[in-house]
Amino acid sequence: MKNWKIVSVIMLPVFIWVSCQNKDIQDNKSNDVNEQKPQNVILLIGDGMGLQEASLTFYYSEKSVFPGFEHIGLIKTSSASHKITDSGAGNTAFAIGEKTYNGAIGVTVDSIKAPNISERLSASHKIGVLATSSITHATPAAFYAHVKDRESEFEIARQLHNSPVDFFAAGGYRFFTDRSDGLNLMDSLRERNFHIDTNELNAFDPLKPGKKYGFMLSDEAMPVADQRGRFLADATSKALEYFDLAEAPFFMMIEASQIDWAGHYNDNDYMVSEVLDFQKTIEVAKKYAEENKNTLVVVTADHETGGYALSTDYEKNKDYDRLSPSFATGGHTASLVPVYAFGPGAENFTGIYENTGIFHKIISLVE
Ligand code: MG
Ligand code: ZN
Repeated sequence: MKNWKIVSVIMLPVFIWVSCQNKDIQDNKSNDVNEQKPQNVILLIGDGMGLQEASLTFYYSEKSVFPGFEHIGLIKTSSASHKITDSGAGNTAFAIGEKTYNGAIGVTVDSIKAPNISERLSASHKIGVLATSSITHATPAAFYAHVKDRESEFEIARQLHNSPVDFFAAGGYRFFTDRSDGLNLMDSLRERNFHIDTNELNAFDPLKPGKKYGFMLSDEAMPVADQRGRFLADATSKALEYFDLAEAPFFMMIEASQIDWAGHYNDNDYMVSEVLDFQKTIEVAKKYAEENKNTLVVVTADHETGGYALSTDYEKNKDYDRLSPSFATGGHTASLVPVYAFGPGAENFTGIYENTGIFHKIISLVE
């Protein structure tokens, strides 16, 4: 037993060192993932969709899509510069696997361009980017562009034709045509083998595997959910049809952009309609993954918006059976947000970890 003293003396500094390395939660940069690997990845981002927003599906629709996701985690969304992230830093964390400053798109905290997940996977995968904002807005931009400031939407537009994106659908054509530099970026995209349409998703049916496709159906953001119909769900089906034709693995990011805007406006009807619209899109992705066993589906958010609560109007009427959701702020919050995963590798997404873990887990599984 004497030896224990020696062992203790030797081990104590090691123990202290290990303890000091233990941050509050893990970065999850390890390659230590389960052996089951997906070929395709669909990353669905509900901008601003915290647990409370996602919970709406249990009270405002017949059947929530979320119980179908067996593997659930939580991510911490803070940026390198602020406890509360913006969508630039939040989505850059997903796209490059590093925390950066609020407002950054695809660049590190030192404003250095970092390879994003689309660039990392493009040699082996087709790449899709879909959103209900303009294609140049922070979330979609993080998956193909690199700029120091998210407000540089004309520069973000200029970077699209040189990016690895093969299929996109969103709004935002004014950033491509109505430019002070006189460039017509629609022509640049067409020169890069893109079919571009500004009216409808079926414009080029039947799709051809050798082409690329871009649908920009609004001059800026897409209309609100009640006015745009099944745009996001149908664009998702269209993209999946294209990837199937191409017979190549794919990575696709789909953003429900306007959940965040409903939060900023503290508008509950807008919130409900955007979350339910997102649910329809998630259902399309989930169904595809159920039929195509090689596909991993991950649903998460860059942050929560609005400090949303599924509360009653308790002060006025103490009826716990009547929901009257409320908001605590017109901005984002620091709440952890849920991650829902389905398909091969989904079990790696459980636990509590940093938002950068989404990137590292996907890369470890796919690359
Ligand atoms: Mg967004
Ligand atoms: Zn926001």
